[in-house]
Amino acid sequence: STSDFLEKNEIKVENIGQDAPLVITKFSQINVDSRIMKSFAKFSEPTPIQAVSWPYLLSGKDVVGVAETGSGKTLAFGFPSIVHLLESEKSKVLIVSPTRELARQIHETLEPIAASCGIKSVCIYGGVPKDAQREHLKTSRIVVATPGRLNDFLEEGSANLKNADYVVLDEADRMLEKGFERDIKQIISACTKSSKQMLMFTATWPAEVREIASNFMRSPVKINIGDRDE
Ligand code: ADP
Ligand code: MG
Repeated sequence: STSDFLEKNEIKVENIGQDAPLVITKFSQINVDSRIMKSFAKFSEPTPIQAVSWPYLLSGKDVVGVAETGSGKTLAFGFPSIVHLLESEKSKVLIVSPTRELARQIHETLEPIAASCGIKSVCIYGGVPKDAQREHLKTSRIVVATPGRLNDFLEEGSANLKNADYVVLDEADRMLEKGFERDIKQIISACTKSSKQMLMFTATWPAEVREIASNFMRSPVKINIGDRDE
């Protein structure tokens, strides 16, 4: 049962009112485009964070996920992001990540899935010339970015986040530890679409992370795996 699954995996789900939590514990419960389903072919079942976050993300809810590294967060937010892009032609996805390496890993996971659906993506990070990134930004519907370089593009007017309606802050605690608070706030503020869906993933739950969640998210469902928010 659902409660056995939650208990076995030490999962707490908060802010869902009186409803029972929903879980997708088998890939066969998902009914989407076969091009997307292919990305699951090498896995036997969803990880706990995927199982619990997918029902809420696919229904448009804001979600905070507190889970350790290696728990499968990339596809937890990445799979619903591509479903979202296929559902509405004008929508855009923004994923903000603390380091170049992490941004590139996310991009490497999502790019082939998106490409198989005809969706372009770009990875934006510092330490390399801006020209190619700036060019790809114009046509990409998935932007994976580190905060500093994305803010450079916002300030020079070459990044436009007005249509970003699925916004992910990955490893939020690390981004704040690295001093990106101002950049993050500036980036979220540039995502002016009022109907956007906001997601935040973090390994810990300190006051700085809670503050971002309470200022920028709309009554998020909070999923905690393994008592990480004590
Ligand atoms: P996190 O962001 O939580 O650190 P990742 O998304 O990077 O974790 O995933 C960690 C590893 O788990 C990757 O090698 C990824 O391919 C693998 N993975 C993702 N989803 C599944 C799944 N459902 N079953 C087995 N392995 C998975
Ligand atoms: Mg990750």
